[in-house]
Amino acid sequence: SRQLRFCIYLCHGALTTMGTVIGRFAPSPSGRMHLGNVFSALIAWSAAKSEGGKIVLRIEDLDPRAQNPHTASLLMEDLQWLGLTWDAGPFFQSDRKELYLNALTKLKSKDLLYPCFCSRADLHAATAPHASDQMHPYPGTCRNLSEEEREKRLLHKAAATRLKVPPSNNPTSFIAFTDLVYGTYRENLACTCGDFLIQRSDNVIAYQLAVTVDDADMGITQVVRGCDLLSSTARQIYLQHLLGYKTPTYAHVPLLVDSDGRRLSKRDKDLDLGSFKAHGISAEQLIGFLASLIGLAEPQEELSASEVARRFSWNALRNHRENVNIRNIFPLDPFSEL
Ligand code: GLU
Repeated sequence: SRQLRFCIYLCHGALTTMGTVIGRFAPSPSGRMHLGNVFSALIAWSAAKSEGGKIVLRIEDLDPRAQNPHTASLLMEDLQWLGLTWDAGPFFQSDRKELYLNALTKLKSKDLLYPCFCSRADLHAATAPHASDQMHPYPGTCRNLSEEEREKRLLHKAAATRLKVPPSNNPTSFIAFTDLVYGTYRENLACTCGDFLIQRSDNVIAYQLAVTVDDADMGITQVVRGCDLLSSTARQIYLQHLLGYKTPTYAHVPLLVDSDGRRLSKRDKDLDLGSFKAHGISAEQLIGFLASLIGLAEPQEELSASEVARRFSWNALRNHRENVNIRNIFPLDPFSEL
């Protein structure tokens, strides 16, 4: 058993020093997976497996509206049907609230949190003059309320919690990282988002905090997800610095969009897995099609996920990083013949 322990020690050492990739799937169970979700999951899986890595499955069900055990089990069934296996989990965020609250306490002890009483309407009014530009940093309305004022307001209104971001001329407000697909990305948090929400007024922990705590706690070394989340990454890295966590590698992947340029969503039921399965489309057809979008397969080629992992390279994505208008090119449209 001493030998065994030594072996475990050795393997563990090797895992950490050789930097084995630990990737993740982090679906929200708000609906069935659609083609865009499958695309991101396929890339996350292939990237990890192409380097002998592992995948953790985490169900992001913190929002009570997304706590649907039936949808969560459909998600898992669908991933399995696609051959997108996981090595650890499923972990449910709804079981992990204590961890998020511990992180919240840590931030509070550094005097980085304050209650915010602004309503959506207040925020809108405050940003309306700049409505034409993309950035609406929080104007800081509730940051400097006196303790007395806070207590008075708390009697009448539930407060959300915001995290302070340093002023724009402070170097710690400036976050830069290298995305494996999109390259160097820089953001000055004070200019893009300002003090951001980490707990809602109904006490639900905000996505930014939960995802940061979980990625660190689960030892995730490589985050692969849709490029709609590229602009969340700087906030997550800022949180990692505050909480003493390591920063994983990030890779954002192009989105599949509908003919109007809108990102596919769980409302696009005709492009979800339930619909594909009902129309007899196979996992290999879907995976082959998605791999063809980044030049890893011939159009109409049928492939297993493992074959995509064998062919995978980050260059394939770097060469195909535009969002893809899926309606025009999807050859397996289940409704085309109706
Ligand atoms: N749960 C998020 C989603 O389904 C993904 C979060 C992430 O990958 O960081 O859109």
